[in-house]
Amino acid sequence: MRISDDRYQRDRQRIEIAVQFIEHEARTRTIRQWTGLTDDRIRKLYRSYLREHQGRLVPRHRGKSPQQVAHFVRTARLRHESALFASICLMTGVIAEAAPSAVGNSGRLIQNMQRAQLLCRAYDSYRGLIPRPLLSFEHAEFLVRTLQRGEELRLTRCGGCGAVLVADRLALRTPHCYGCVS
Ligand SMILES: [Zn+2]
Repeated sequence: MRISDDRYQRDRQRIEIAVQFIEHEARTRTIRQWTGLTDDRIRKLYRSYLREHQGRLVPRHRGKSPQQVAHFVRTARLRHESALFASICLMTGVIAEAAPSAVGNSGRLIQNMQRAQLLCRAYDSYRGLIPRPLLSFEHAEFLVRTLQRGEELRLTRCGGCGAVLVADRLALRTPHCYGCVS
């Protein structure tokens, strides 16, 4: 009994998170990676979500997920928003400052349900702070994975005020935030 209850709870949780990801316009692949649900179940969830919301259109992004790491540091505004989102993720425990420890032996992220939930909340907070956010949920999720991997981008601190910044892994100079540069 106990085991099947646990299993049922876990399954329910997976579905709840998948629906939250759908609301955030996440791609099927992203949902699968975080919840472990099959593509078929995710498609069914999409369909029932659309039915329940009277056909309110959830734009579905097909094709490849964002893969350009440089995107996050391309402009001052993107650097600012990436840093803001990363700070929220740090404060809420979506990512750890000592990033590589969260990567398992296989090199894949340890992605559990709790982190998935925190990721959704972190993104909501970011969206609440920025009127017209430049980072989509997919971007935000990609940023979390990239930082956790720690190969191309890393979390660092502003040399002037200590604010959290996202920097190129290979950058040699101590970075400064927008406020400290100007
Ligand atoms: Zn600063």
